[in-house]
Amino acid sequence: MQTALLKSALDSATETEEMLVDSGSLESVARLFAEHFPGRAAVIVAASDTWTAAGSRVEKAFRSLGIRCEKPVVFAIPPFLHGDYDHIAELRDGFAAHDAIPIAVGGGTINDIVKRASSEAGRRYICVATAASVDGYTSSGAAILKDGFKQTLACAAPIFVVADPDVLAAAPAYLTSSGYGDLASKLVAGSDWIVADAVGSDPINAYAFRLTQEELRTRLSGPEKAAAGDPEAIMGLFEGLAMTGFSMQFLKSSRPVSGCEHLFSHVWEMEDLYFEGRPVTHGHKVAIGTLAATALSEVLLRRGFADIDPAASAGGLPSSEARAREVVDAFKGSPAARGAVDAALKVATAKLDPKAAIVHLERAKDRWTEVSGRVAAQLEPYAELREAFRKAGCPTKPEDIGLNREYAIRTAFRAQMIRDRYTVLDLMYEARILDECVGAVIADGTYLR
Ligand SMILES: [Zn+2]
Repeated sequence: MQTALLKSALDSATETEEMLVDSGSLESVARLFAEHFPGRAAVIVAASDTWTAAGSRVEKAFRSLGIRCEKPVVFAIPPFLHGDYDHIAELRDGFAAHDAIPIAVGGGTINDIVKRASSEAGRRYICVATAASVDGYTSSGAAILKDGFKQTLACAAPIFVVADPDVLAAAPAYLTSSGYGDLASKLVAGSDWIVADAVGSDPINAYAFRLTQEELRTRLSGPEKAAAGDPEAIMGLFEGLAMTGFSMQFLKSSRPVSGCEHLFSHVWEMEDLYFEGRPVTHGHKVAIGTLAATALSEVLLRRGFADIDPAASAGGLPSSEARAREVVDAFKGSPAARGAVDAALKVATAKLDPKAAIVHLERAKDRWTEVSGRVAAQLEPYAELREAFRKAGCPTKPEDIGLNREYAIRTAFRAQMIRDRYTVLDLMYEARILDECVGAVIADGTYLR
């Protein structure tokens, strides 16, 4: 269902020129390649499972049109492939030996490492997605673990994005439910942008907001169909994820699609979270982050903002030294690498600004009726979100991804420290009620249970 909005999203995308999502697209991409890159060779990068699912078919299609193919790079699975910088360096050095156009055939990790390696090699690349598992196929930037810190490294989105609905539907069910979790996270991303806009930190761009939000609830409306492997539902999910990626391409920022729910997941990515013998997927971590962020927002909406005194709250913010101690304490017992703590120290002390906090808090207080109304309308009520996740096959409690409940909820403190992007966690921190709200979620009988 290529809607008018999706067409408009593709038109507004500055880096992606074509998106093919139909049953013949693995073959059509060879024709498209021949038109765009006459005389150039291709090099497929895949994991062993995605090579079997689609890579060999793509290579056959290229060869049948007489397109030269370098020896494919196929990462053997297991071990599980991580989006870390070593793989990027390895690919980039390999690309230096030829001038072939890289074709990433796989899921989010393959796409991210090829995206950045291609950019470092000064080349465009093509993405052939094999699962409706993440929004990153169409986004600018790659989510990479570098020096122990999860970060978004700049690089251009693919020139073409290609997917065959039957290949997407044949992907393991946990990858489809991961995509559902990543798409549902946009509810919180939108709410955090509303908050950041209201306090004057990050004004909403109406078109980017619309691209992410306008069709979101429709695309999230059939969780059980996607979970059952219905190709049409999975194609709708894939297109929904693609659209949110295009909003990032348009705005050159992940703001439209990533709020504090992603910060929870970034913390657990830095902690290298495994469960039942495999790394927990991005989308499953984001699903728990989305539930936690929704719970915290509901607690805030219930408690209200009337008793917040902006000057007193900002005056209660810690000194830089005390803030640094808070960061070190928050990461005590976390398996995150030293580099992650150092980076958090830098970010958390840099964004500590009592003068700015007074302005944020005054604006939030003045507009509270409007802001709280918009946030309430933007978020799915917790109980309904949880039920949709259950139907989609997403995790619904921290234990489902190997986390202790209280530890997962308390991740809010670390999540607030790792990125300079205003979210509801910053509003609570500046108002000096983050502790209270985290405590209320922990004490609640239904949240994250
Ligand atoms: Zn995501």
